[in-house]
Amino acid sequence: MFTLAIVGRPNVGKSTLFNRLVGKKLALVDDQPGVTRDLREGAARLGDLKFTVLDTAGLEEATDDSLQGRMRRLTERAVDLADAALFIVDARVGITPTDQVFAEILRKKGGTVILAANKAEGRAAESGFLEAYSLGLGDPLGLSAEHGEGMAELSVILRPLI
Ligand code: GDP
Ligand code: MG
Repeated sequence: MFTLAIVGRPNVGKSTLFNRLVGKKLALVDDQPGVTRDLREGAARLGDLKFTVLDTAGLEEATDDSLQGRMRRLTERAVDLADAALFIVDARVGITPTDQVFAEILRKKGGTVILAANKAEGRAAESGFLEAYSLGLGDPLGLSAEHGEGMAELSVILRPLI
């Protein structure tokens, strides 16, 4: 079964997207970073596509000095288990230094990376969406996990991979 790992720093909307794809509240979502942990696996459906999805979490409670190491290990573990990585950034916040660390991890790992700028609904997301081009991981896909926007475009990208 094709496996997609959802990766990215805390609070970008990974679990919200995971829940939307899986259709059940398997992963915890909260306004406060610090709720979800480790890796969660779910059976995803997107239109007629069926695949396995991994949600990376467990970074939220790390202390500052252990965060980068834990982030790296967990992300690498998910990417190793997966056929492709869906790298999520927050279009409302724009690109942060932590996003750049993730981009570097994914670049070094090789493999298929789909870049998505989440929270892309509305005007507040426009400049952050454009910043995502600077990661050098190709054209970002605009998503709104919360509102279900960009799901058809995601399925167009995933279909040839599955
Ligand atoms: P994670 O830490 O990456 O798993 O992020 P979560 O899925 O827990 O989401 C973090 C916060 O962002 C929550 O308050 C969500 O409701 C919010 N969020 C997720 N997706 C969207 C979106 O598409 N638009 C907006 N505006 N907020 C979102
Ligand atoms: Mg989460």
